[in-house]
Amino acid sequence: MNLTDTPDNENSLNPFLRLNYEPALESLGNDYYDEVVAADFPQHILRWRNDSLLPLLGLNAKAVTDADFINAFGKFQGRKPLLALRYHGYQFGEYNPNLGDGRGFLYGQVRATDGELYDFGTKGSGRTPYSRGGDGMLTLKGGLREVLAAEALHQLGVKTSRCLTMIETGLSLWRGDEPSPTRSSVMVRVNSSHIRFGTFERLHYFQRPDLIQKLLDHVIEYYYRHLMGKPDQYVLFYAELVQRVAELVAQWMAAGFCHAVLNTDNMSITGESFDYGPYAFIPTYDPYFTAAYFDYYSRYCYSHQPSICQLNLELLQEPLKAIIDKTEMEVALGRFNKYYLAEYRSLMLKKLGFEQLEFPEADELLKLTIHFLQDSQVGYHQFFSEMARTFSPKWRDEPGMVLNNSHIAPALGTSNLFDNWCVLYHKILNNFHPEQMDIIAQTLAQQNPQTVLLRPVIESIWEPIAQEDNWQPFNDLVNKIQSKL
Ligand code: AMP
Ligand code: MG
Repeated sequence: MNLTDTPDNENSLNPFLRLNYEPALESLGNDYYDEVVAADFPQHILRWRNDSLLPLLGLNAKAVTDADFINAFGKFQGRKPLLALRYHGYQFGEYNPNLGDGRGFLYGQVRATDGELYDFGTKGSGRTPYSRGGDGMLTLKGGLREVLAAEALHQLGVKTSRCLTMIETGLSLWRGDEPSPTRSSVMVRVNSSHIRFGTFERLHYFQRPDLIQKLLDHVIEYYYRHLMGKPDQYVLFYAELVQRVAELVAQWMAAGFCHAVLNTDNMSITGESFDYGPYAFIPTYDPYFTAAYFDYYSRYCYSHQPSICQLNLELLQEPLKAIIDKTEMEVALGRFNKYYLAEYRSLMLKKLGFEQLEFPEADELLKLTIHFLQDSQVGYHQFFSEMARTFSPKWRDEPGMVLNNSHIAPALGTSNLFDNWCVLYHKILNNFHPEQMDIIAQTLAQQNPQTVLLRPVIESIWEPIAQEDNWQPFNDLVNKIQSKL
């Protein structure tokens, strides 16, 4: 730990400065990053602290003050070096060699109580050599949206980064996609790694197979440790990454989540979801639902996510082929669909109440559910949350009982598909014993929270903040999400 810049012993008492930091990336040498300094902000108002993450860091929430958050992550007192990471990436299909951490840096890497190493990465902490024309800042609404996305996805079982804190920083920012001037924030996220596909792509661009080898060994040592030292560790790494990414996309799809910016610089080498900008949860099952207003050709629309991630994995073969046999990587990538479909099937059956994956009509139910959701355009999340809210063992008695007390039934009227769906669901329930209805009810409730982060919900908590600086609705929403209500 480096405690330079410490004006007094206040910082050395800050629990965030006394964590088990490891200079993992730093030890690779400065081919991978630039040392930067954080912006000096006119104001620091703590808007969010994720106390639920503190035990993972070995901290007791009661022993951490708001000032500790502000001093560590708003004023950036007492920690060096702060590293802007270097990377490139394919953005909307075009290779961009002018990338890198443009408004964030790696604050530090911490060995947590689960034995894993986590990155603390900032967003909105000032300009870096990679800011290009940007101001290096994050809007308050942008920070708040990332906090909410990460918590909601985490509760839905998606392997995701989390936000540790968000601090309002007192600047006025100008943005094309928000009424401006708009307020600023700095956000700190915790994730397994900020090494991206694009980190490797940059090294390939500069024709540095030596640095690719070093980085790959580092990734295996820290994030695929069980493969270390195996004779075929490199191809096993790629094969496992394919599986992790395929399962991650399946988690997004089941959660009804559209990431919106699946550029290779937003793809983590650990297969974890992170960096939430113009994302959206889908209102209805629309394969072409597109979340980013600047995604003119719907490249990253909801239903393209599996094939885009597969393509990104294929692009990663270019830098990796310096180390790993290309044919073997192609074989491994050929398993993407198998992994994706198995995970998606299992998650969707759980959303429908079934932990047990093998029963007659399981696949027919999945198909009919998607067909019905797409045809009816009933709310995707509403459908599942209404199932959870109104499920009754009586549904086993006759098809007319299924969803009969829900808000969606009257709106659907005499839809044939809905009737067919109810008949099938009723029939499937009759494969199970009456005593098993409780388990189905529990699974439905567990998988389908009532609180859904649809855009109007985010707008409804943003309005009171924008109008009267009222944070109560935001705090209530996060509490509900974290409590799986
Ligand atoms: P993103 O779309 O958030 O993944 O960002 C893409 C790239 O643009 C990353 O290299 C960011 O660091 C950079 N970037 C985005 N917004 C800004 C900004 N306001 N100032 C500087 N760099 C930015
Ligand atoms: Mg990004």
